[in-house]
Amino acid sequence: QNVLSKVDSELFAAVSAENKRQEDHIELIASENYVSCAVMEAQGSQLTNKYAEGYPGKRYYGGCEHVDVVEQIAIDRLKKLFGADCANVQPNSGSQANQAVLMAFAKPGDTIMGMSLAEGGHLTHGMPLNLSGKWFNVVSYGLNEKEEIDYDAMEALAREHKPRIIVAGASAYALRIDFERFAKIAKEVGAIFWVDMAHYAGLIAAGIYPNPVPHADVVTSTTHKTLRGPRGGVILMRAEHEKAINSAIFPGLQGGPLMHVIAAKAVAFKEAATPEFRKYQEQVVANARVMARVLSEQRGLRIVSSRTESHLFLLDLRPKNITGKAAEAALGKAHITVNKNAIPKDPEKPFVTSGIRIGSPAMTTRGFTEIEAERVAHLIADVLDAPEDEAVLAKVREEVSALCKKFPVYGA
Ligand code: PLP
Repeated sequence: QNVLSKVDSELFAAVSAENKRQEDHIELIASENYVSCAVMEAQGSQLTNKYAEGYPGKRYYGGCEHVDVVEQIAIDRLKKLFGADCANVQPNSGSQANQAVLMAFAKPGDTIMGMSLAEGGHLTHGMPLNLSGKWFNVVSYGLNEKEEIDYDAMEALAREHKPRIIVAGASAYALRIDFERFAKIAKEVGAIFWVDMAHYAGLIAAGIYPNPVPHADVVTSTTHKTLRGPRGGVILMRAEHEKAINSAIFPGLQGGPLMHVIAAKAVAFKEAATPEFRKYQEQVVANARVMARVLSEQRGLRIVSSRTESHLFLLDLRPKNITGKAAEAALGKAHITVNKNAIPKDPEKPFVTSGIRIGSPAMTTRGFTEIEAERVAHLIADVLDAPEDEAVLAKVREEVSALCKKFPVYGA
């Protein structure tokens, strides 16, 4: 017990401080969550010692008989969870899963189409400084005046540019995505239809957000957001694409897979198939809705897209005359963790922004229901109303502390 503290007290102190932060602060970053102890145990296992280049039954190293079992369990559980033909559980991150799709289906210079980062997309979908934007000719779609995906404009762009790949999926979009409509236009223009479900994967596994798997050629995801697994990525695909995707991951992009992380992914997939997980995801969406309603109807803020149908929403801070950067800092002082986020047509620079992104997955894992969600929304608004008032910050911090003590994450 506490071997780390004896071997490396300096490192142990930093890890302990982070553990305490996670217990004592209300975590509202939409892409974060708290994994179970079983997931952590698998990830902390001796599997970290093993090299296993290749795939189950076809490895480039000896001694893989047990990690083969682990990886096959992960693959089978993932396929069943989302109803996919084939799965690859080796991507080290969501970004690497996405790179594999680009590598499998396009060549540098080809045209790809994705959602603009400024309107909710992810940087791996064609942002100019990302590999996806540097190596490919990017056409971006965005939102209409109601701040919903502009499907008509997206279709017109697809017909005009005939992209090799169309990607649907987002990091900051609160509404349901019409995957069927994307699939139809992709088929019409001869594009590969790729969905990046990283943010919504847990909701999809629970059946409360549309499943893209029946409509897409290939679906990528992270495992650490709503899905509540270890940090990492996965890819689901139609049988006809299995070879291209698998060889894009290995040997295309990665070497030895992280077998300890794959073991932890397998545990998370088992947990995600339970009725408790479905109940959890329903609570996640209910909590996000309550916070959005209180902040807009009672506290004078504006919700981008006017509502949420998922685990997150963007808050337009302009009614309070505070930037995203300042709001993130003030909320941080009150022990509420959020990230600044550009809102559509944001007048501020990306490092300043006029918005924050709020997500309910982590606070719901620690047991918050609608009652606490309503309180959290009021606490957020109290800080935004007086971001420099030390007395207000202290009062909010006190209430945050009481809430966190009442709902410990991993216990004392
Ligand atoms: N795709 C989407 C939609 C995301 O939101 C993210 C992470 O924020 C990623 C991919 C990238 O995942 P990772 O941070 O594991 O590379």
